[in-house]
Amino acid sequence: MTQHPVRTARRAQITLTPARGRLQAIVGGRARRPRRIAMLSVHTSPLHQPGTGDAGGMNVYIVELAKRLAELNVEVEVFTRAVTSDDAPVVELAPGVLVRHVTAGPYEGLLKEDLPAQLCAFTHGVLRTEAGHRPGHYDLVHSHYWLSGQVGWLAAQRWGVPLVHTMHTMAKVKNAALAEGDTPEPAARVIGESQVVEAADRLIANTAEEAGELSHHYSARQDQLAVVHPGVNLDVFRPGDQAAARARLGLPQDAAVLLFAGRIQPLKAPDVLLRAVAVLLEREPGLRDRLVVPIVGGPSGTGLAKPESLHKLSAQLGISDVVRFHPPVGQAELAEWYRAATALVMPSYSESFGLVALEAQACGTPVVAAAVGGLPVAVRDGVTGTLVHGHDPYDWAHALHPYATEPTLVRRQGEAAALHATGFGWGTAAAATADVYAGALHQPVGRLSASRLRLA
Ligand code: UDP
Repeated sequence: MTQHPVRTARRAQITLTPARGRLQAIVGGRARRPRRIAMLSVHTSPLHQPGTGDAGGMNVYIVELAKRLAELNVEVEVFTRAVTSDDAPVVELAPGVLVRHVTAGPYEGLLKEDLPAQLCAFTHGVLRTEAGHRPGHYDLVHSHYWLSGQVGWLAAQRWGVPLVHTMHTMAKVKNAALAEGDTPEPAARVIGESQVVEAADRLIANTAEEAGELSHHYSARQDQLAVVHPGVNLDVFRPGDQAAARARLGLPQDAAVLLFAGRIQPLKAPDVLLRAVAVLLEREPGLRDRLVVPIVGGPSGTGLAKPESLHKLSAQLGISDVVRFHPPVGQAELAEWYRAATALVMPSYSESFGLVALEAQACGTPVVAAAVGGLPVAVRDGVTGTLVHGHDPYDWAHALHPYATEPTLVRRQGEAAALHATGFGWGTAAAATADVYAGALHQPVGRLSASRLRLA
């Protein structure tokens, strides 16, 4: 890369002040938060509709986190890959939050799996943008998912700022709990993730369990790890009138509504819900008249190869009359689905957190979830829902039965769920994240900071 004078001067500055972050970050003995950060989201845009393809919880996470960080006076610029020629170079998402579209490869036709080959082009776009500003434009880089971590690694080193990284999902964790017949994540991803872990000054995990996985599978050190629970937008997801929601969505008032919401892929195991429903109906045929199973979302990941598979499975199981498929919807409409539901069902094999669990609870709806990933944090077993171990449809039918038949239980758990969810506002998550940033500025501990010190 060509060295121009500004870069050279900044390198000299870094060399002279190895703990540059520390100098910037301590004001009157107090750790200071960054003024402006570069947030990296290479493979999916915060402007996209979540619930299908590559857009899911991470998109919601970035939107909500960025907005709340901006409210705390931390400006956020999110870099994402341009996927249509209509994408303006810069879009204001909210006051203090910009989305910058980076051209890296063709707009269409690239799968997430193709993106490692575009990381150089993406990094070039990010560095070029920064070079158009005065030195020190970004105080810190926060990358999301390993592809962005690869870009963040280089950008942070180039700018002499800390790298904070959030994995969202990890190849080794996913591969350890694959659905039958599902394709494992490739070795290249594992290598890429390990490199990012080594480079990061802080790794933000959704739960203590995820922090444990980072240390167990990727040898992350304790001083790199920080746990910040994600949040839920409590303005959008709040309890409301179930009857009105059902009327609006065309659902019968007396129905037992077992809702699935999210990306349709083997990892999320919507097939387990369908198999459990078949068992439930076999055992209690009287439920058939009032059982409704809406599947809200679109195909994603390895689920894209067989987008019709759930329709076929419903037909095979003889339950097509109770299952309804709906394309992904915006957050406000999704809140209506949660309010209309008797319970949200999440039979996932792996889930780094599972935002839909929080969202449904915030709407006063209990959640029946697999006891995996962040779900045991999101759901209080026996209080705000039920946690199910394993994926045996008979166990799931057993767990779902009371929700279809005991309105008092549903009401009691729904009230507890709404209360439980209030502990997970995005404001709290953003404040905790900003504190992690301050810590990284004050005391960077990644391999990059070590090399900066060696340079000195
Ligand atoms: N979602 C949505 N519309 C839909 C289905 C899902 O906006 O029709 C959003 C939902 O609100 C949630 C996200 O997609 O915030 C899914 O996040 P989650 O953590 O549950 O799963 P992930 O996609 O990260 O695997």
